[in-house]
Amino acid sequence: NYVLFWHRRDLRIEDNIGLYHALNSGKKVIPLFIFDSDILEKLPKDDARVTFIYEELEKINTTLQSHDASILVKHGKPLEVLEEIIGKHEISAVYTNHDYEPYAIARDKEVGELLASKNIEFKTYKDQVIFERNEVVKADGDPYIIYTPYSKKWLDKLTKNDYTSVDCASYYKNYAKKSFNFPSLKDIGFTASSIKVLPYTMAENMIDNYEDTRNFPAIEGTSRLSPHLRFGTISVRKCVQNGLQSENNVFLKELVWREFFMQILWHFPKSVTNNFKSKYDGIKWRNDEDEYKAWCEGKTGYPLVDAGMRELNESGYMHNRVRMITASFLCKHLLIDWKWGEAYFAKKLLDFDLAQNVGNWQWVAGTGCDSSPYFRIFNPTSQIKKFDKDHTYINKWASDYQELTYPSPIVEHKFARERCLSTYKSGIES
Ligand code: FAD
Repeated sequence: NYVLFWHRRDLRIEDNIGLYHALNSGKKVIPLFIFDSDILEKLPKDDARVTFIYEELEKINTTLQSHDASILVKHGKPLEVLEEIIGKHEISAVYTNHDYEPYAIARDKEVGELLASKNIEFKTYKDQVIFERNEVVKADGDPYIIYTPYSKKWLDKLTKNDYTSVDCASYYKNYAKKSFNFPSLKDIGFTASSIKVLPYTMAENMIDNYEDTRNFPAIEGTSRLSPHLRFGTISVRKCVQNGLQSENNVFLKELVWREFFMQILWHFPKSVTNNFKSKYDGIKWRNDEDEYKAWCEGKTGYPLVDAGMRELNESGYMHNRVRMITASFLCKHLLIDWKWGEAYFAKKLLDFDLAQNVGNWQWVAGTGCDSSPYFRIFNPTSQIKKFDKDHTYINKWASDYQELTYPSPIVEHKFARERCLSTYKSGIES
């Protein structure tokens, strides 16, 4: 008689809440990961995120093997895979961690029903965030839709218990001593990508200097935590512990932005496909396909926009400052619907996370809950003077920008700015 621990967005066996409870359940634990065929079939065959997940599972498996255990890695529809496992092994409970995306909520509901019909417990835990769902809400119980009061409440509520790590390693002996066959990437229909997730840093000086360095894309001044938080190769509790070591909480507050958008998605799942504020529904996006293509390829003729898009295409990452500039350029200079930009980032970002991507895109477009005002239009040229004055970042990603063959600006800034203001204005008034 066993319990299953189902890894999803938590690809680690350290400081993992659901896993900790499974290992302390009194039953031997079979760890499981399912490559969900419904998700995988929409991705290119060399998707870098699939390679990353695969390599992280390999690392987990190596550690487990040193404890005479192994991880069960399956490929298929979660419901069918779980049904098959339950038929094969005697399972009394399935443990896992909460996932707040609409697809995952629907999946887990079905899984819960299947397990209940077989008298198997489905035990799920908060692990991905410090505060989830309704844990940080207004006095009247309504969700916050403005970041500043949310972050204040979040910080006031935080106690040591909320970010204390759990010790899983002491209980590895409670893994089932089983040796499962580990599939190859090819077995699940994929090939390895050359685009890699970089390691994160939480060095003390990075966090201390963060406020001064984080806006400069040429400086390695940010943590590179985002894909690790997305796939759970680090626990958020560790990040908060590190954040608290600094005298200022600028870095910590970025982790709070992440949780802010997580709870927005949970409370307002419609914001994935709709403007958070419906008064913007009347905006007449131009949605010019050729201009969209130029933006995707980093050929707008604006060097900082192009450098950003090429960084994204070549590395699966883009610096936050440049994300804001490229996104603003798409929505405001080109008047292309933020959903098009969101979709492109979703395809390319190693750290793509629905809550963060939608939340930030709506923020930039001005349509979101706590948005940048629509009349704030980044000037893609003066941003260079402020944030990349030596052109170090531009030279790295768009080194051709000084050549004669470099495209001329796709649209003139002043003209685009006026067009944007009048289009938004008439959209709101319509
Ligand atoms: P750091 O600056 O070191 O920040 C530490 C952590 O705080 C990040 O890893 C992240 O978890 C969180 N954080 C920082 N900034 C934000 C923010 N603006 N919103 C929410 N959380 C934040 N981030 C994603 O993780 N996934 C996305 O799909 C995503 N899409 C974005 C789309 C647009 C248009 C914009 C403007 C931003 C987007 N971001 C997204 C937020 C941000 O750009 C990245 O989290 C950050 O650049 C990652 O680099 P880092 O880990 O070095 O960040």
